[in-house]
Amino acid sequence: MKITMSEGAGGNATAKLISGLFLKYFNSPYLHEMEDAALLPDLGKIAFTTDSFVVRPLIFKGGDIGRLAVSGTVNDLLTRGAEPKYLTAAFVLEEGLEIGILEKIVASLQKTAMEAGVEVVAGDTKVMEGSGGLIINTAGVGSVACGASLGARAIEAGDCIILSGRLGEHHAAIVSERMGIDSEITSDAAPLNKMVGTLLENGIPVHAMRDVTRGGLATILNEMAEVSGKEFLIEEEKLPVSEEVRSFAGILGLDPLYMGNEGKMAFFLARDRADDALELIRKSPYGEYAAAIGTVGDAATGGVILHTAIGGRRRLGPLYGEGLPRIC
Ligand code: MG
Repeated sequence: MKITMSEGAGGNATAKLISGLFLKYFNSPYLHEMEDAALLPDLGKIAFTTDSFVVRPLIFKGGDIGRLAVSGTVNDLLTRGAEPKYLTAAFVLEEGLEIGILEKIVASLQKTAMEAGVEVVAGDTKVMEGSGGLIINTAGVGSVACGASLGARAIEAGDCIILSGRLGEHHAAIVSERMGIDSEITSDAAPLNKMVGTLLENGIPVHAMRDVTRGGLATILNEMAEVSGKEFLIEEEKLPVSEEVRSFAGILGLDPLYMGNEGKMAFFLARDRADDALELIRKSPYGEYAAAIGTVGDAATGGVILHTAIGGRRRLGPLYGEGLPRIC
């Protein structure tokens, strides 16, 4: 069975799709009230974010657009020290989408939401003309318990920079699917609640976090260096990259520093607790390949400097132009 325009008309077919498919998986009592807005309990100070997902193919090795739609939004909330609580999920379906594929994706979205401890409390479905595609938007709120405001402005000279795992996996997985290349590389799409939670619960003085997504590590470091007004010194030798991704990137002329992940976090934290932090991250889910990759320098020039494996010094710029294909 395929989606037709009538599933988006707001009548019978729409109601059937919502009750027969979406409500079967999304079990939040707030959603099941079926009102026009969810009434939620007071969360105090909240973090609030939104993200849209347009990746093709919809299902890929290691994940799918549903898992991505939860992981991306949850990880963005985590970067501000928030405990993710509630999501909205808006589905823009293209005419011709197989309902079986939609169901798989909705089930995966819900499974990932449960893993991340978030509830889908409101949603929307639209159908547009097209060729069987799907776009998902999720918005998320989380409660912020910790006093300090985590963010790039809180980065201090001397901070240690820790990367939670190996670069480029999501990007390589999507590229290999799209090019029909047979590879063992799987997407790393994952919610990182436990990893971030264990650092904060153990009192690690985390100053800033950023999930390594579109544009790759080099791009997010540049964004943070600009906001913080500080210079980051990165050791090329310490960057964790799997052999599979390294050779895949080599063949295609891609640089893992500019390849996106969907389940990796860069942490900026006080140097004297860096060893403790590394141990906690490595013991948490998705953190086994974490590494300390650099430090924040004193120079007020800003920017990102890469100390290369052969002893050189290179200024790392952000990604310019198109990071193709769309990976999230
Ligand atoms: Mg982000």
